[in-house]
Amino acid sequence: MPKETRLYEVLGVSSNATTVEIKKAFYKLSLETHPDKNPNDETANARFQEISAAYGTLSDPDARAEYDRYGTVSSGPKPPKMNMDDIYEGFFDNRPRRPRQAPHAFHHINISLEDLYNGRTFEFSIHRNVPCSQCDGSGTKTGSEAKSCVTCGGAGRVQQQRHAGPGTIYQIYSTCSECLGEGMKIREQDRCTRCNGRKTLTTKERISLKVPKGTQDADRMVFPGKGDQNPGTEPSDVIFVINMIPHSSFKVEKLDLSTVVRVTLSEALYGFSRTVITHLDGRHLRVTKKKGEIIRPDQIDIAVGEGMMNAHDAKQKGDLYIIWKIDFPPDEWAIDGGDLPPGLPDISEGEATDVTLRSGSLDTFGLSVGSQENGTTASAETQT
Ligand SMILES: [Zn+2]
Ligand SMILES: [Zn+2]
Repeated sequence: MPKETRLYEVLGVSSNATTVEIKKAFYKLSLETHPDKNPNDETANARFQEISAAYGTLSDPDARAEYDRYGTVSSGPKPPKMNMDDIYEGFFDNRPRRPRQAPHAFHHINISLEDLYNGRTFEFSIHRNVPCSQCDGSGTKTGSEAKSCVTCGGAGRVQQQRHAGPGTIYQIYSTCSECLGEGMKIREQDRCTRCNGRKTLTTKERISLKVPKGTQDADRMVFPGKGDQNPGTEPSDVIFVINMIPHSSFKVEKLDLSTVVRVTLSEALYGFSRTVITHLDGRHLRVTKKKGEIIRPDQIDIAVGEGMMNAHDAKQKGDLYIIWKIDFPPDEWAIDGGDLPPGLPDISEGEATDVTLRSGSLDTFGLSVGSQENGTTASAETQT
């Protein structure tokens, strides 16, 4: 057991760790605390120096033996034997940046429940950056080439020396601010006259977004390759995320819908036959309650198949849950006596759909078969 274990603790290894374990621990910690990665964190810098010093001692067999025996090293902390270039070459991508794919473009669109129920096509005009057609994305005039950046010599990074305590100098690399890591720079006179060296041009494109019947809140519609395109890379995607505007009358949970229907006390007691709901597609639903089918407060009836359609399978439809509310007569009625207030009129005189109800409960609301997963990707087509 060594006299002192602090340096091992700094690296987070046990005092009998192998050289390989010590090296691995150092790699991992130096990555986390490297000043390049934590430019605004002074403590990270101090910790990095501490780690480097601990590694310097523990990676040197003689120094480690001395430390284990006496708890200190006579010559002071050893600088890391490892060439820092080797370390960072392996862990930081210091090569000039390869062209990166542009990020995917997300558009959140607000859509009414009616439009989700019935389906609707929306037309959009989108702006996208594509490689300049004149210079083919090179940014230069025909024939001229981007020159290697003078500041970094084409490496895309610049080397800096830093002191990590007495006797320890290490080198770090930072992205070249002149060429932004690309390693190449286009001289002003060589710039493409169309894109002015930007390499891309902004174009306008029409997108036709078909929202199929039964689309759900948070569903995504992907237009592959319709996003920005950086030169030398695949174009990114345009992704529409559906944001359902809450409806004033209907609630939706997966494939099921619910709505509140009010009837008078006489209707609840003696029955009625009238249109009570205007559905999301404009149909008027007529409910018939015969005498002897008393509606009780907060009773739930289910109109089977009157819910949302499964956008991925038209055969699957959810149900419509009717939550009955009973309007009791005013107090005056009890004093004056007489007949109960009459039933309410049809909500529409026009054509009506008769619905058959079965009794149910809200416990099953949202559980209708179809088991449509939220956030699925619907296919979409574009018009250009
Ligand atoms: Zn440069
Ligand atoms: Zn150009």
